[in-house]
Amino acid sequence: MDVQRTIIEPHGGKLINRELAGIDREEYLEKCKCLSSLTISKWIISDMEMISNGGFSPLIGFMAEKDYQSVLKYMHLANGLPWTLPVTLPVTKEEAKSINAGDEVALYSDEGELCGVIQVEEMFEYDKLEEAKLVYKTMDDNHPGVKKLFEQGDIYIAGSIFLVNRPSHKPFEEFYMSPNETRKMFNALGWSTVVGFQTRNPVHRAHEYLQKTALETVDGLLLNPLVGETKKDDIPADVRMESYQILLKYYYPLDRVRLAIYTAAMRYAGPREAVFHALVRKNYGCTHFIVGRDHAGVGKYYGTYDAQEIFSQFEPKEIGIKPLFFEHSFYCGKCMNMASLKTCPHSADDRFILSGTKVREMLHEGITPPPEFTRPEVAEVLIKGMKQKGKG
Ligand code: ADP
Repeated sequence: MDVQRTIIEPHGGKLINRELAGIDREEYLEKCKCLSSLTISKWIISDMEMISNGGFSPLIGFMAEKDYQSVLKYMHLANGLPWTLPVTLPVTKEEAKSINAGDEVALYSDEGELCGVIQVEEMFEYDKLEEAKLVYKTMDDNHPGVKKLFEQGDIYIAGSIFLVNRPSHKPFEEFYMSPNETRKMFNALGWSTVVGFQTRNPVHRAHEYLQKTALETVDGLLLNPLVGETKKDDIPADVRMESYQILLKYYYPLDRVRLAIYTAAMRYAGPREAVFHALVRKNYGCTHFIVGRDHAGVGKYYGTYDAQEIFSQFEPKEIGIKPLFFEHSFYCGKCMNMASLKTCPHSADDRFILSGTKVREMLHEGITPPPEFTRPEVAEVLIKGMKQKGKG
């Protein structure tokens, strides 16, 4: 008998599917030839995919003004469900001139590939400064999310979407799974509790510590690295993907962990993105989600534990997935093991702590970080990868 083990409901109760298949897709392929068209960025394409595969359930399209304002001001959709980040489709005033509410518009990548269609419900102007202040907590355009916001078009077009062609995830295609597929996989594995881990970095010893500590109390771990758009100085996804596979091979119990890519773009919105990340992983069927120090942060825009504290603004019931909070973790020479500010009584001198910038510098220069910080096999892959990128 097929026992349904993973019981966590998708956000809003229903997993959305807006990916066209079969005859419906054929129809739209034909129809799109006659529709007006828009070119959309990689970021928007990845959002379309996440909406269509149910990762962003309950969204069925790009937000209308009512939801957008409600998300900005109250961190809830207009229907009362928690949702912390706008998911919007910006266009320039020029582009907006040829679009009207009620239109269907075909959406293409900048390489001319058809992605899907939006059924335009409304178009609205918005206040970029207000969005920056409320979402990113800064109006400084050195913040990568704010920079992006300031550079984008001034009008949002809203409406439900259909995905006609799923974007390619080469070279990680084998690690692509839709929320429906991860849910089925967790069931097949017999996991009723699953902890999700988000990262845009290589997995260092501190990350490994959080994951394995969580794994002590749940059935399985979904290592779910973000491979969507990141800022330029982050370690490229292909190098990271190789490093994750090596790490799992040598240091993880393979029956307890699965690696799947998370294809959305990184917003660097700190606390609001932590809640967003948790809700999306709930859609993938995770029951728990790790939030450590400065989750989804960048520079010094957010306090170390802001991304944990924000959860207290919601009822646990309305979030559904359980966030697991961890304090700053490291290897301590005196404890002679991994520990955190909560569990280690020793001084900073005993702790192996390296900033992300320092580690990237070391890797670029071919210097192996200490094994207390990174597994040697992982360091080797990263140094080799960075060297190749340098040559390229
Ligand atoms: P992101 O920017 O997506 O949060 P990171 O790789 O920086 O990606 O972090 C992944 C997760 O690990 C986040 O929840 C973050 O808070 C946590 N984390 C990273 N390093 C540490 C650390 N040294 N101690 C505690 N938590 C950490």
